[in-house]
Amino acid sequence: MQEEKLYDIAIIGAGPGGYHAAIRAAQEGAKVALIEKERLGGTCLNWGCIPTKALLASAHLLEKIKESEEFGIKVEDVSFDFPKIVERKNKVVDELCDGVAALQKAWKNDVYYGHGKIIGGDAEKGYKLEIKGDKTERITAKRVIIATGSSPALIPVFNVDHERILTSDDILAPDFDVVPKRLLVIGAGVIGCEFADVFNRFGSEVTLLEMLDSPIATEEPMIIKELEKRFKDRGIRIKTSVRVLSVDNKGDEVEVKTIPADVPQEEMDSAVKTVFKGDYCLVAIGRKKESDELGLEELGINTMRGQIEVDPLTLETSAKGIYAIGDVTGGIMLAHVASYEGDVAVANALFSLGFKLKPEKASYRVVPATIFASPTIGSVGLRRKEAKALGIQVILGMFPYNSLGKAKCMGEEGLLMILADKHTLQILGASCIGEGSPELIAEVALAMKNGLTIEDITHTIHSHPTMSEMVLEAAEAVVGQAVHKKGRPYVPIMKQIYLAPLPVEVKEVETPK
Ligand code: FAD
Ligand code: AMP
Repeated sequence: MQEEKLYDIAIIGAGPGGYHAAIRAAQEGAKVALIEKERLGGTCLNWGCIPTKALLASAHLLEKIKESEEFGIKVEDVSFDFPKIVERKNKVVDELCDGVAALQKAWKNDVYYGHGKIIGGDAEKGYKLEIKGDKTERITAKRVIIATGSSPALIPVFNVDHERILTSDDILAPDFDVVPKRLLVIGAGVIGCEFADVFNRFGSEVTLLEMLDSPIATEEPMIIKELEKRFKDRGIRIKTSVRVLSVDNKGDEVEVKTIPADVPQEEMDSAVKTVFKGDYCLVAIGRKKESDELGLEELGINTMRGQIEVDPLTLETSAKGIYAIGDVTGGIMLAHVASYEGDVAVANALFSLGFKLKPEKASYRVVPATIFASPTIGSVGLRRKEAKALGIQVILGMFPYNSLGKAKCMGEEGLLMILADKHTLQILGASCIGEGSPELIAEVALAMKNGLTIEDITHTIHSHPTMSEMVLEAAEAVVGQAVHKKGRPYVPIMKQIYLAPLPVEVKEVETPK
């Protein structure tokens, strides 16, 4: 019988959490096995971040061409070829997946294709893993990182048939090249809004159906209002506070039956139903954590509704030497968070094996996030209501795109707001809607990570004319000094009482007079 291979670390799942962790571990000199049951790159590369942004790039270009007359450029007979756009999207995905494979090879990581499961062992002797693919293989690993991610949540009432009633995986499949005439989207969260935006720009009549009273409900109210306005201006219908009762494929169209979201359970049958019709329906109501068939129960690893419980600082599960990262832990479900958690888990796993590196503690104080709709929304750190809940007295500076020279030149609209602690002027968060918002937020994220204050930004020279001046002017607005905006800060100092210490390492700064 062939001897089982022994690894320092085995990683189950090769999404942005797993493939990134595998490279990081190899960089530290560890022997690594990476196990993947579908495609390297996981959701992000194959059915998430990348294919959506490749479609968006075409949609964006189309929109720019349509707006070209405003810039004095005449383009006649603008048209597009959707199958070609899908072909380009597939090419981008394939090339990036090949890139991930090449990187694993360059770092001499062994990639196993198949379903991975931990079948026994412990942190002392090593864990045994079984990989069921074309053949069944077994390996031993001293440490294991579970990075099995998530998949679209399927609830029976939505009747997803993958023909007309679709998940995001279906709509991003390499052979889905239809622009629906009428598209119904259930769920106006990040994913629902991104698809609504893209297909609207390719000409679909889009209706968003959302149970809560607003789309992208966790964002700043001012940002939500701006997005709703822009969506409505472009003809995207947003129906909020509606509960979907049923979704039915009627052969040549889909029918979605709804009632108002506030109707109590016992009155649902008698409530007035509203029927929405579309050619296709996208169900974008959340994600299921992929933790089935991993052998967790036998190892005593706790899960809650599928999500694997971990120590929030070390990311170790209740089984010593087994860590979990990314979507499967149900934390912040973003690709870069999964990758960051990969770094933390690798450092802690290898440290426990005696590798010469520092152990790490996960921190989520500074997590930038983007909603890639048109306009793009970027955010980082606290929102006003979160600061209020923490008892932090805040001050806010807002600056509109239409007051900035560069934004005017580019024909872009939007706004950026920065939130700071009233007493220390330490930056607590920022939200932005408009072209380039993720890049503007990146500067704020770096400032936050380093405990900087508003004055650190206002005393930094920003190149002119650039979009980065938005950050400068919004920071100046916090202290009522924006040069290109009249008056005091847009939102006056809030009236909460300063109750709690900051939940962050506070840099010593002088309290402004
Ligand atoms: P995943 O990427 O889900 O990867 C998990 C991998 O594990 C998969 O490849 C799966 O096949 C494999 N696997 C599962 N079980 C096993 C097993 N037992 N054995 C072997 N392999 C297994 N995030 C952003 O930051 N920016 C975006 O713009 C963005 N856009 C998105 C758009 C859409 C439509 C969607 C659906 C998501 C988007 N996300 C975005 C979220 C992002 O894709 C996820 O947060 C990220 O992929 C999570 O990474 P992960 O490594 O935890 O899991
Ligand atoms: P996200 O959490 O960003 O994936 O977004 C999912 C969105 O779907 C959230 O805004 C939810 O409120 C919404 N949602 C969940 N279930 C339903 C439902 N039954 N009908 C309409 N919207 C829903």
